[in-house]
Amino acid sequence: MTLVSLLAGACASQPAIVASAPPPAVAAEAGPQTHNGDYWLYASAEGSVATRQAYKALVDYAVAAAKNRPQSSVILEAGANPTGSDPVSFVPCGNKPLAAVFDADETLIWNIPPRRDNVFHNDSKFDAKVWDAWERTGAGHAPAIPGAAEAMAALRAAGITPIANTNRTAAHAAGAEATLKAAGLGDFVHGETLFLSGDDTLKGNKDGRRATIASLYCVIAMAGDQLGDFSNAFNDASLTAAQRRAAATAGPASALWGRGWFLLPNPSYGPWDSKLKFDDVYGTDPWVPTEGVK
Ligand SMILES: [Mg+2]
Repeated sequence: MTLVSLLAGACASQPAIVASAPPPAVAAEAGPQTHNGDYWLYASAEGSVATRQAYKALVDYAVAAAKNRPQSSVILEAGANPTGSDPVSFVPCGNKPLAAVFDADETLIWNIPPRRDNVFHNDSKFDAKVWDAWERTGAGHAPAIPGAAEAMAALRAAGITPIANTNRTAAHAAGAEATLKAAGLGDFVHGETLFLSGDDTLKGNKDGRRATIASLYCVIAMAGDQLGDFSNAFNDASLTAAQRRAAATAGPASALWGRGWFLLPNPSYGPWDSKLKFDDVYGTDPWVPTEGVK
């Protein structure tokens, strides 16, 4: 029997099996079990409740604030340092139109496909080439974060303009506009309601873009998943994790959380990740389980 006839015979003897066989298991669908942050954020009920809760609080706050024409934006004036000990000041509103400012990634939209690629093909690390392609071609593949689309609609209905200030690159402005639009978040227009890295010379430092936005609008609410979405001072590399945490929770701008500044949960990635060490997380308390433990 030749090889050809052997194969033909094999095929002829198992046509039903071939036709009815389930698709081969894709190992990627099982996924590694080591990314609790991703699991919680992108798929858990708790994660979706947390984002909806944050957006509900933001809209309630902003709509109420809009009725009283606040005198100041929630954007810090140049030189104001929320990680220092001096009081901070905010950009005056004047008669500027009302706006709310949002980070985009893991604030307005979730970037699940590139994260999935990182997990399976880059040891879970960020891959700049994958991200570049995602910025250009990801429209229609990035879902709006739960609660975000409803919040954008509610803000617009209340006369508050949503503005995105993101570190996606200005070179891919069309991709950013299309991605936000396809997610159901409405229109964000580069240079008007969409501000990108490369719009000024400060790269990933959003302070300059925030100043530009505050010169045009009275910003009554801001949201992001990282502290740099509120002030670049929180990104000071000299701050330890403990100092950064203390500045954010007890510093001169800390009263703004929930009252103008709104943090979206992101246990998947962020600047906190590289600063924290084992003892920062688990401490050094000497307690060990003894009572009732064999
Ligand atoms: Mg973000």
